[in-house]
Amino acid sequence: MSSTSRRDAGPSADADWLGWREALEVMLEHCPALPIATVEAAGALGCAIAEDVTARVFHPPWDNSAMDGFAVYASDVRGATADAPVVLPISDDIPAGSFPTGPLAPGTAARVMTGAPVPDGATGVIRIEHTTELVAGEVSFLEDSDAERNIRRRGEDLSVGDTVLRAGDPVTPAAIGVLAMQGMREVAVRRRPRVAVLSNGDELADFDQVAEVLSGRRIMNSNGHALAAQLVTAGAEPVMLGIARDDAQDVRRKLEEAADCDALISSAGVSVGDHDQVKAALAAMGMRRVFWRARIRPGSPLTFGLLGGRPFWGLPGNPVSAMVTFEVFLRPALRKMMGHRDPEAPRVLARARKAISSSSDLTHFYRVRLSRVAAGYPEVELTGPQGSGILTSMSEADGLLIVPEGVVEVEAGEIVEVVPLPGAWW
Ligand code: AMP
Ligand code: MG
Repeated sequence: MSSTSRRDAGPSADADWLGWREALEVMLEHCPALPIATVEAAGALGCAIAEDVTARVFHPPWDNSAMDGFAVYASDVRGATADAPVVLPISDDIPAGSFPTGPLAPGTAARVMTGAPVPDGATGVIRIEHTTELVAGEVSFLEDSDAERNIRRRGEDLSVGDTVLRAGDPVTPAAIGVLAMQGMREVAVRRRPRVAVLSNGDELADFDQVAEVLSGRRIMNSNGHALAAQLVTAGAEPVMLGIARDDAQDVRRKLEEAADCDALISSAGVSVGDHDQVKAALAAMGMRRVFWRARIRPGSPLTFGLLGGRPFWGLPGNPVSAMVTFEVFLRPALRKMMGHRDPEAPRVLARARKAISSSSDLTHFYRVRLSRVAAGYPEVELTGPQGSGILTSMSEADGLLIVPEGVVEVEAGEIVEVVPLPGAWW
C-alpha cells in the first residue's frame, strides 16, 4: 500500500472525530456484558456460553465397537488368511442397545455391532467384511489386520469432570450436540440483547404504505429491515420501532417505547444540515453523547452515546452507511454484550485483483466479493460503485476490504484484510 503523511488540518485535527479503532474501543467500554440466563440449549444458537460446562457422563460411556464385526482375542486369530481361515465359535451376540453376557470366553468370538459394548478382554473387532459364516454358530476369519483395532475406549472423547465448553465459547450446532450428549437440555448464556430499531424521515414508508413507494412518492424503510436482519445474524433480538417523522415529539415517543431494550439504533437524522429532530429529541431525553463522527467511509456521520444508561447508536441514513457501521461497530459491541470471547471476527487475507485508489484521511471499507482460487489467498474485487446509497453493491458483497487511514492506493496483487460479512457462508 502506498501512504501519504497525515495532514495537519482536516478531520484528524478534530478531537471529537475518532479513528476507527479508537471509536470501537470507546464503544466497547460502554457495552458491558448482559446478565446470565439459563435457557434451552436448542434456542441459544449464536449466544456465548456464560459458565464453564463440566462433563457429567463419559463419552463414549463404554468400550465400544467402531465396526460391525466380531470381538476377538488377537492371539486366537493371528495368521488368519483367506487361504487359511481361523474358525471360532460365536459365544455372544451384542447388537447396539444391549450388553455382553460376560467377558469374552477365550477361543470364541462375539458378534458386535457399531457402538455396542465390546466384551471385557477382547483386543479388537474384526470387521464383518473380513469374515464369512458358513456353518451356523461359527465364524471364519479371512484376515487378522483388525485383531487389535476398532475398539473405541470409554471416555476417549470426554471423562466425567472434563471441561466440555468454556465461558465465552460460542453456542454452535456442535456445542448444542455436545450439550445434548451430556444430557443437558439447558445452558447458561448471556442473554440476547434486545435492540430497538428506529428509522427517521418524512420520505420513508413501510410495507403498510407500499403504494406510496410504488407510485414513486416515498422510499422504503430498507434500513429498518436490513438492520433487523443484521441483528438476527449477530444473535440479538430486534425490536422494531418503525418510522419516526421528522418531528422531535414523534422521535421521542417512539424511542420511549424501547424502555425494556438493552440498546438502541436509530438511522438517519444525525448528520449536519439535517432537520435535527433526532438530536433535539435525544437532547430532551438526556442522552449522554460519547462521541460524534468517526474517520471512516462510509459511515462517518455516526453518533454514539448512552440513553438511559444504554448504548445508543445514531447511524447515518444512507443504506450502505447504516449497514457498514453495523458491521464495523455494532456487531463487535453486541458480541461483547453477549459475552463472546473475541468481539471481532478474524479477518480474511485476500489478494487484490485490481488496484484500488483511496483517500488518506479516513479508513475505507470497500464492498468486495471474495473468490476462491486454486491455490493461495482468495482473490478480492469491488462489487461495483461504492456510493453510500448503492445498496446492491452491499447485497453482492461477502466482505468489507479495509484500506486504513494514510493509504492512498492498494496495488493489484497486494494482500489486503477483509472483514467477512454474514452472507452466503453464514
Ligand atoms: P439522512 O441521514 O436523513 O440525511 O438520510 C440520508 C439518506 O438516507 C437519504 O437519501 C435518505 O432518504 C436515506 N434514508 C434515510 N433513512 C432511510 C431508511 N430507513 N431506509 C432507506 N433509506 C433511508
Ligand atoms: Mg433525513
